[in-house]
Amino acid sequence: MSENLERRRFLKGLGASSLILAPLGCSSVKEKENAYTPHYVMVFDQNKCVGCGECKEACNKANNLPEGKSRLLMEQQSGAVEGQPCPHCGKTTGCGCERKFVRVSCQQCKNAPCVTVCPTGAAHRDPKTGIVTMDAAKCAGCKYCIGACPYDARFINKETDVADNCDFCLNSKLAIGELPACVQQCRYDALIFGDANDPTSYVSKLLAVKDSVRIKPGFGTEPSLRYIPIVKLGV
Ligand code: SF4
Ligand code: SF4
Ligand code: SF4
Repeated sequence: MSENLERRRFLKGLGASSLILAPLGCSSVKEKENAYTPHYVMVFDQNKCVGCGECKEACNKANNLPEGKSRLLMEQQSGAVEGQPCPHCGKTTGCGCERKFVRVSCQQCKNAPCVTVCPTGAAHRDPKTGIVTMDAAKCAGCKYCIGACPYDARFINKETDVADNCDFCLNSKLAIGELPACVQQCRYDALIFGDANDPTSYVSKLLAVKDSVRIKPGFGTEPSLRYIPIVKLGV
């Protein structure tokens, strides 16, 4: 997938709520923004992910995180690698399991416990995009949000002592009209991002034809991360 096509996809996905157009101060755009609520989602296609980890590095760089830290983890679920036992069968040699990875990061819940419990309003939902993000200046470092997150997706940035979560690169990339850094970086098309409320967006069309799942739906958090699982597991 060429970068241009990805970008066109994204711009189309942004639709009337474009963050890029907002700084222009155009009143008609602002009126549309007020009338329209996007729902930004990210899709992780497990069939395409090879576990290269380049998305993590891109996240670190884009969001100026401490060395080696990223707002996402790439967890290996099966398949032995470099003498490490296969997480599924336990074998270090002769493992016939398919290599399978899963992205672990903030699920961008529509009902977000981290926001509900935050006593200072530091963990909040961006009013324009609905994305769960942080106001670093308000964070008291109490870690209530970390305890409340059912996905173990939050952490304290050790350099700033502020709680952090994946916010789809709201300030570092979306605000300048770019796709999230991990999505841009993934050469295998395993990450797709866009506005699920826009029926013309690529992500909407993809979700309409592909079976996808959400993690821990029973918690009622309504995650915005969708996973397209490997169909033929072979494990
Ligand atoms: S960059 Fe893409 S293929 Fe590589 S680990 Fe991340 S999601 Fe998977
Ligand atoms: S996954 Fe955790 S950090 Fe992200 S919105 Fe949900 S509760 Fe908050
Ligand atoms: S969207 Fe941005 S903050 Fe979230 S994992 Fe990707 S690169 Fe990191």
